[in-house]
Amino acid sequence: MYEEEYANIEHYAQEAGFEHYHLLDPATMVMKQEVRDMCKANTCGKYGASWSCPPACGTIEEYAEQVHKYHWGIVVQTVGQLEDSLDFEGIMEASETHSKRFLKMVEQMREDCSGILPLGAGTCMICKKCTYPDEPCRFPEKRITSVEATGVVVNEMCKANGLEYNYGPNTIAYTSCVLVG
Ligand code: SF4
Repeated sequence: MYEEEYANIEHYAQEAGFEHYHLLDPATMVMKQEVRDMCKANTCGKYGASWSCPPACGTIEEYAEQVHKYHWGIVVQTVGQLEDSLDFEGIMEASETHSKRFLKMVEQMREDCSGILPLGAGTCMICKKCTYPDEPCRFPEKRITSVEATGVVVNEMCKANGLEYNYGPNTIAYTSCVLVG
């Protein structure tokens, strides 16, 4: 189901340069409180620092309701090659590449598809500096929350939709998705 609709938008992922992409079934996106709770560890430094991240973004129950209204989408991945597991520069480079690709794809998709819901691989990167908490979000309709912040178990989502989560030693994979219809 929805292969035909997916075939019409797959080119966006290809043009953006993603290494892997696949049709996404939103029913496979299972929200778990323990995933959301991991945000509190604040290893990314964005907990309580963006409108797109906890605690300011919606609850996992609100995301579950929103996500499961969709029938299909696309999951995309950037896979970066690292010199070794401590190649921090390589990790950052792959992260930036993924963000740029994702923003480009989402902007193109917005022109063609109405009502899409993009979920990224980190905090919202629309503005250079998020206005949180002093001013309202500048672009609430464009704001991008991460897949993890919705509580979705990303590795389960990947496996359930025909993708690997881990591409082996000395690689780093970033995963995002767009719910479309
Ligand atoms: S659109 Fe701008 S202000 Fe709104 S969450 Fe994203 S970075 Fe923050």
